[in-house]
Amino acid sequence: MRITHHGEHLLQLTRYPALFPMNCYLVLEEDGLTLVDTTFSSPAPDVERLSGELGLKLRRIALTHAHGDHVGGVSGVRERLAGIEVSIGVRDARLLAGDKAPAPGEPPYSAKGMLPTVPWKPDRLLEEGDRVGSLLVVASPGHTPGHVAFMDTRDRGLIAGDAYQTRGGIAVSGVVRPLFPFPALATWHRPTALRSAEALRALNPSRLATGHGDVLEDPGAAMDGAIETAHRKFGHQRDRS
Ligand SMILES: [Zn+2]
Repeated sequence: MRITHHGEHLLQLTRYPALFPMNCYLVLEEDGLTLVDTTFSSPAPDVERLSGELGLKLRRIALTHAHGDHVGGVSGVRERLAGIEVSIGVRDARLLAGDKAPAPGEPPYSAKGMLPTVPWKPDRLLEEGDRVGSLLVVASPGHTPGHVAFMDTRDRGLIAGDAYQTRGGIAVSGVVRPLFPFPALATWHRPTALRSAEALRALNPSRLATGHGDVLEDPGAAMDGAIETAHRKFGHQRDRS
């Protein structure tokens, strides 16, 4: 995988950077490493090598959402490394268990995209405001019903999962970028995704790290532009998925 460093606490690991980039992240903590997302297959060999180089053990996996290109590598990491806590948003845990139906109070659409039923159960279910090491859990539904983002409280770096993409040009989840349309096609509910994108922007992140595409430093203006585009594209649609 391609490895890049961003600030003091973040490494981006990218599978297939040229063709179909899928990112996961290592967050450096005093007690070890947190892996955010896993791509579609196990990143364990790269994680183990980096763990050795850094002298930090992998402690936990935190997942932004239940799509296969984010959770697919969990089993492989668990087989290689013992004692890893796996967490995901409480709502997306239902998708992992095979239940794609809308919950009471949600827009009446089933979740979209590749949603594998997995042979493991998360150890911890995350809610808005929880902490995973230095990361603050931020509810950001829309791409999936229970998508969460993670903001590093040390430097305001935001790991946004698929609430935004940066491959093919920055976009809010649900806005089709012709050079990389896949996250948009897998988006559950665009008006909800746009509200979440605005909430994430309001956090004033110092850095934007997405599930697909390069990390952006000082992303405020770019996020504003992406939100404006999403309003233009979704504006006429009211509450349709
Ligand atoms: Zn994705």
